Amino acid sequence: MNKPFIPQLVYFEPHALDYPLGKELKKKFEEMGIETRFTTSHNQIRDLPGDTDAQKYRIAKSTLVVGIRKTLKFDTSKPSAEYAIPLATGCMAHCHYCYLQTTMGSKPYIRTYVNVEEIFEAADRYIEERAPEITRFEAACTSDIVGIDHLTHSLKKAIEHIGQTELGRLRFVTKFHFVDHLLDAKHNGNTRFRFSINADYVIKSFEPGTSPLNKRIEAAGKVARAGYPLGFIVAPIYLHEGWEEGYRRMFERLDEELPQDARDDITFEFIQHRFTKPAKKVIEKNYPKTKLELDEEKRRYKWGRYGIGKYIYQKDEEDEIKSNLYGYMTKYFPNAKLEYFT
Ligand code: SF4
Repeated sequence: MNKPFIPQLVYFEPHALDYPLGKELKKKFEEMGIETRFTTSHNQIRDLPGDTDAQKYRIAKSTLVVGIRKTLKFDTSKPSAEYAIPLATGCMAHCHYCYLQTTMGSKPYIRTYVNVEEIFEAADRYIEERAPEITRFEAACTSDIVGIDHLTHSLKKAIEHIGQTELGRLRFVTKFHFVDHLLDAKHNGNTRFRFSINADYVIKSFEPGTSPLNKRIEAAGKVARAGYPLGFIVAPIYLHEGWEEGYRRMFERLDEELPQDARDDITFEFIQHRFTKPAKKVIEKNYPKTKLELDEEKRRYKWGRYGIGKYIYQKDEEDEIKSNLYGYMTKYFPNAKLEYFT
């Protein structure tokens, strides 16, 4: 994706227009000539266009719903943060392996919440409850928030809000390079800006609708030069022909791009490809032509919670992945912190 997301259709909850952001978005989309409709609740869109499930799925992913976040009780987001801060739900991209397919089911449209001040007040209460401990908020648990923030600037406001706190921290992860409007946000070092990156082959084959690797890495360079603490998640690490070379190239590109002074406060997280039986089913339904390897026979079974086990790489494959990726990380970024490798 080389251009920022523009929805094809926008729904508003009527009360969203009681908030300044709701009014602003209504005006913006009307001026852009985008069809707007009303809906009673952001949880129930009854007249979404499309004849087949496949059409409905695609249309929903380019539909934006502007609503009010009623539940101001935040979900927990362990281990990387204490809470998920709810700014948006859903994503316009089409990563074949995306877990939102199982969690969002038949409602894959993108929701944004206009009562941002109320959400920030709730965050402040959580921070207060935990003082003098630090409280970390994750803004990308249920969406790729950067992908829509050029329209709403809710993330930018959250960065600045958390920037003013002493004990609050914010983090999120993105596969998009549309970061320019976030570069001058007064983050105060309280936000860790993370990019999800992968070998070029994986991005090209399985992540339609996201930004190319080079653009993500360029954006990471800009973000580092804007003084944000930086992080990377490499997920899913996927075995394919030439995978060692693909991941090595990815690290080389990072090494070329990132300024020296950003490297002492940089994190990595690595997650190998895995799938569950329910996820396989939904992936094959939404992306029937995918080349994603989902063969249980080739994998090792790992028992999981609620009886839903995962199919992970064989032990020797896993060892090879770990030694390669860990080797690249320590070669190019010896001071990086490894947050997680699974
Ligand atoms: S960018 Fe992230 S949230 Fe969006 S479809 Fe891809 S994996 Fe899912």
